[in-house]
Amino acid sequence: MILGVECTAHTFGIGIVEKGKVLVNVRDMYKTESGGIIPMESAKHHHEVSERIYKEALDKAGISEKQITAIALSNAPGLAPCLIAGMQFAKKKAKELGIKIIPVNHCIAHLEIGRSVGAKDSVMLYASGANTQIIAFASGKYRVFGETLDIGIGNFIDKFARHIGLGFPGGPVIEQKAKTGKYIELPYAIKGMDVSFSGMQTKLNQLYTKGEKIEDLSFSLQETAFAMLVEAAERAMAHTGKKELVLGGGVGCNARLQEMCRIMCEERGAKFFCPVREFLVDNAAMIAFTGELMIKEAVDVDKVDIRPRERTDDVEISWR
Ligand code: AMP
Ligand code: MG
Repeated sequence: MILGVECTAHTFGIGIVEKGKVLVNVRDMYKTESGGIIPMESAKHHHEVSERIYKEALDKAGISEKQITAIALSNAPGLAPCLIAGMQFAKKKAKELGIKIIPVNHCIAHLEIGRSVGAKDSVMLYASGANTQIIAFASGKYRVFGETLDIGIGNFIDKFARHIGLGFPGGPVIEQKAKTGKYIELPYAIKGMDVSFSGMQTKLNQLYTKGEKIEDLSFSLQETAFAMLVEAAERAMAHTGKKELVLGGGVGCNARLQEMCRIMCEERGAKFFCPVREFLVDNAAMIAFTGELMIKEAVDVDKVDIRPRERTDDVEISWR
């Protein structure tokens, strides 16, 4: 049984996995009244909730902590104070239980959890708040084929939503508003498999000032930004010859983005895998799930450190 700890940003979570099966997935999210994440505050949140979430996870799974084989920790990439909070917790438990820690890269975990819904060798569209990347396994490593050149898709949506007074998080509200909107042309920025959102951000703000309807802006934002992501993902699939797409990240909860991915995959005879919501957002089940695949990478507690800026392709892959 592997116990996973997620701590890279706003979410502190504990998940338990046994033979690829998720037994429990508990999480608590740090929230702000307004504005974005304050790393030290989020770390404080992790310290405050960790013991409670840990107990809740063991209770729900109906197991004793003695049954845990190793602790999988999301030690990279992320906000340093949050990573440290999670690491301190994982080390304390691992020492008490006399077990090892498996350091897991958070982005890779988003991709690997796709296996739980049947993916085998996929291209992943990772669309979260801070991250927007197209990742796939090629020549021995998980490689980033494309990514945002400025801000992450979720942060871009949230920034616009905040600008027009819709509050935080903006994604779900924009999705609702978009349902009755009409199309207005916006800057479409894709270079190879990279995308950028700053031009669209400026244009949206200008159109809002001019009095365009929020519904129309929301609809056009989704159609344009998601089309960019899906085009980049399709290029990566064509380039690598892979026949599967997996979605990851909080923006992946958006029904229109899921629909566009599904249509693209159908048109090219590929399979689309969309994990359920609790595995799309930041969660510890995916850390435990990946940790179980990586069990041979388990190390002594003293050898573990955080890697806030670790890149996906820095990770040595021994489990596939
Ligand atoms: P994450 O960083 O993976 O935790 O995802 C958080 C991001 O997902 C935030 O930027 C949210 O606005 C965004 N998000 C959540 N639900 C939706 C949705 N239904 N449509 C678009 N974005 C969403
Ligand atoms: Mg994430």
